[in-house]
Amino acid sequence: MSVSKKRIVVKVGTSTITNSEGNIDIRSLDHLCRALAGVENMGYDLVLVSSGAIAVGAGKMRLSQKPKEIRMKQAAAAVGQTELMHLYDKFFGEYGRMVGQILLDNEDIANPTRSENLKNTFEALLENHIIPIVNENDSVTHAEIESEKKLFSDNDMLSAFVAVFCNACKLIIFSDIDGLYDGNPSTDPNAKLISRVEEITTELKSIASGSGSNRGTGGMITKLEAAEYATAHGIDVLVTNGKNPEKLYDIIEKKKVGTLFVAKANS
Ligand code: GLU
Repeated sequence: MSVSKKRIVVKVGTSTITNSEGNIDIRSLDHLCRALAGVENMGYDLVLVSSGAIAVGAGKMRLSQKPKEIRMKQAAAAVGQTELMHLYDKFFGEYGRMVGQILLDNEDIANPTRSENLKNTFEALLENHIIPIVNENDSVTHAEIESEKKLFSDNDMLSAFVAVFCNACKLIIFSDIDGLYDGNPSTDPNAKLISRVEEITTELKSIASGSGSNRGTGGMITKLEAAEYATAHGIDVLVTNGKNPEKLYDIIEKKKVGTLFVAKANS
């Protein structure tokens, strides 16, 4: 199925919407919602994939550090998800937009009946100009309970699945780094931002090692994997720093921002 020219999926990582105290960064969240509402008003369909449930829950529960035990992570996700949705509803409401929550796991996409229901829900929300806010269903996902890495992996791949699933034309991943560099910018002052990637090579993957933040779980490598999947399905992927969500307007105007992974033409 061809991509919809005015449908964009935006993914925000935990590090973008929380501060160094591990609490929700109210100002960032407000700016993000304002920019997204502005872009929606320009006639775009938007889907937001938001991480942050576990970190926000842990902050609200006053846990001294991010939980390690799976059941505590799941409890924190339950607490944090409601807090996140409360704030998204409030801020988007300020800018005249409505939101709906969608919590998913892999099976929801793999199972044909669930996947059809899910597709219908996305379409119904978007037709009614409601912004779907998606996260992994961390509190109730049992299938991979033994695999901590998979259960609580970052949402980069989830956002790529959602972009393909919704036939979006673009996936924007807001991270805590400006994009993909040709070295490690935290240790190499000469590392340069790569603004355009036509082909995700093994060399690029080896450059993209290491995680940018200790609040989320993703690093650049999971973004590359997500980009590989989405570009293979004809979707452009843009990775940039989420601290200034106003950049969304520049992205829409096709100005040079972050790293663009170019969609494969023949998909
Ligand atoms: N689904 C997790 C959350 O919302 C993602 C954790 C992360 O990588 O940031 O907390």
